[in-house]
Amino acid sequence: MSDCCSVSQPETKSTEIKCPSCDQKGKQVDLLTIRSITRRDFPHYGELTKGFLCLNPDDATVYYFSNLDFIVNQDDVVTDIGFKTNSNTKTVCYCFRHTKHDIIDDYLEHGISNIENDVRQKVKDKQCTCEVSNPKGKCCLGDIRTVIKGVEENG
Ligand SMILES: [Zn+2]
Repeated sequence: MSDCCSVSQPETKSTEIKCPSCDQKGKQVDLLTIRSITRRDFPHYGELTKGFLCLNPDDATVYYFSNLDFIVNQDDVVTDIGFKTNSNTKTVCYCFRHTKHDIIDDYLEHGISNIENDVRQKVKDKQCTCEVSNPKGKCCLGDIRTVIKGVEENG
């Protein structure tokens, strides 16, 4: 895969285009990612363009577009969207399938995050497929960090 996981890569900039259902700003996502995450039997699959990911955990919208009159919601995607409130699995790392629960347990048990270190090594070894596996289309290491930070801050 490309250098999607290089640590120096700048954060994708938030965009001014707001989600049509919750009116919050989302993050820009490439067409490759959207095509990978959206179900192949989605009625508008052939019309997909690059678009935006709705980051609001309480909104069922996953992808929306600046110039299309439909959205892709949680029923239209092939993977659980881990950061959405009604997610069953709370997946954080899509390439290697680690959930929020796994990451917290691992950290509490070992005092360090073996999962984070493992993912970091696999990223180095170019085994990750973030562009097509992660609904955000980018590396999960930042999200793994956020989970660990949350545990640290809550003692
Ligand atoms: Zn939304």
